[in-house]
Amino acid sequence: MAMKRNLPLLSLLLLVSGALYAAASLWQNGLPASYWQWRRELVMLSGVQLMTVMSAAMLLAARPRWLEPRLGGLDRLYARHKQLGIAAGLLLAAHWLIKLSPKLMLALAWVAPRIKSGGGGKDPLVSLAKDVGEWAAWAVLAMVTLALLRAVPYRFWRKLHKLFAPLYLMGAFHGLILMPAEMWAQPVGWLLAALMLIGSGCALYSLAGRIGKQGQYAGRVDRIEALPAGQLEVICQIDGWPGHRAGQFALVSFSAAEGAHPFTIASADHGDGRLRFIIKALGDYTRRLPAELEVGQTVTVEGPYGCFQPRGGARQAWVAGGIGVTPFLAWLQSRELAEKPLDVDFYYCVRSRGDAARLEEVRQACHQRGVRLHLIESEAGALLNADMLPEVGEVWFCGPQGLGEALRRGLKQRGAQAPAFHNEAFSMR
Ligand SMILES: Cc1cc2nc3c(=O)[nH]c(=O)nc-3n(C[C@H](O)[C@H](O)[C@H](O)COP(=O)(O)OP(=O)(O)OC[C@H]3O[C@@H](n4cnc5c(N)ncnc54)[C@H](O)[C@@H]3O)c2cc1C
Repeated sequence: MAMKRNLPLLSLLLLVSGALYAAASLWQNGLPASYWQWRRELVMLSGVQLMTVMSAAMLLAARPRWLEPRLGGLDRLYARHKQLGIAAGLLLAAHWLIKLSPKLMLALAWVAPRIKSGGGGKDPLVSLAKDVGEWAAWAVLAMVTLALLRAVPYRFWRKLHKLFAPLYLMGAFHGLILMPAEMWAQPVGWLLAALMLIGSGCALYSLAGRIGKQGQYAGRVDRIEALPAGQLEVICQIDGWPGHRAGQFALVSFSAAEGAHPFTIASADHGDGRLRFIIKALGDYTRRLPAELEVGQTVTVEGPYGCFQPRGGARQAWVAGGIGVTPFLAWLQSRELAEKPLDVDFYYCVRSRGDAARLEEVRQACHQRGVRLHLIESEAGALLNADMLPEVGEVWFCGPQGLGEALRRGLKQRGAQAPAFHNEAFSMR
């Protein structure tokens, strides 16, 4: 992944929305003086921040093409979406607990009951907005918890995830009705109005099933070959494929019932719509795939996505762990890279050479490109660590998260000499 500077998106959203709300509230109400006033302000503040964060999460969920490269690729975009989702869950819990806090405060006799001024019946729209907010809150909290439980199969989670769009709209309705009218005339109101419009547009786009549709291309499976260690090579012929850069990935759907899975395009673009995927049996679907997939069947490919693309120049180390070899296979084939001067040590980590996908192809391509290949076989007792990597300007890693983290930590210890570390996020959950 071409590492973009990791802008603290979440902190920025919290800070801007929090500061704008605090300024508007101070301007209008002054400093809160009692528990009841503090409670009101904190409920409002958490509500404003929650709506801000949820709207941003909704925007990212719509996979806007223009935003993807700016955030460093779809995998990074989803990582941020997940971070925003967790933050929304926490803000929602805070919003609600503060709202419910009088029950505890009154039971402990820490505050006196509030004497409400003015009689008058309840506004039915306000009551509805409160109820809608409460239903949505229960559902969102349950869903954020489910998202974090690895035991829930991804397939099931993905279908459930679609419910976030209507829940967002319920939350937006709740906010629209319950935000004090005078706030809409303040900068915090303008911000919220803009975000809620964008978020609602994205939610409707999602409900209409439009997300990703523009980048989808139909084709057929042309060739299937079983490789060692539960790996399957699938060659697809895609009609109208717009081309891709080596190292990018696609969302591949072999069956409508299963939906799309992300796989790296393990071939460079030759302008002929032929895409290679090498798929390892890592979960329930990918384990079933060899029995289900047939030559000639249709496939839908969405993309290309991602920014895992090396630059030439500085001395580099490439590290592939197991199936993480796929983007490097594409790099080694790419004409674009052939034109760049390369000074690369490539570490291909596998259990044993028999398990290595397309080892002969890797060997030959490395030889042709002058890339120094190091095969690291764990069964033979060899394990890669940061000390084994030479002094380089950049490290490009694709493979198991644990190995990536260990290398990143180890390389950091080189202090000022630490290379830039780029990694492909192979997990989107
Ligand atoms: C950018 C990227 C590139 C990848 N490239 C390759 C590759 O070239 N070869 C390869 O073998 N694997 C690749 N993967 C991993 C591959 O997507 C998962 O192994 C596969 O989707 C697992 O599906 P499953 O149902 O068999 O496993 P499950 O046990 O259901 O899922 C295991 C994990 O895989 C991920 N996953 C599953 N389904 C999806 C989905 N529809 N969308 C997003 N993530 C999902 C989730 O993190 C999930 O927790 C890549 C992943 C990403 C994010």
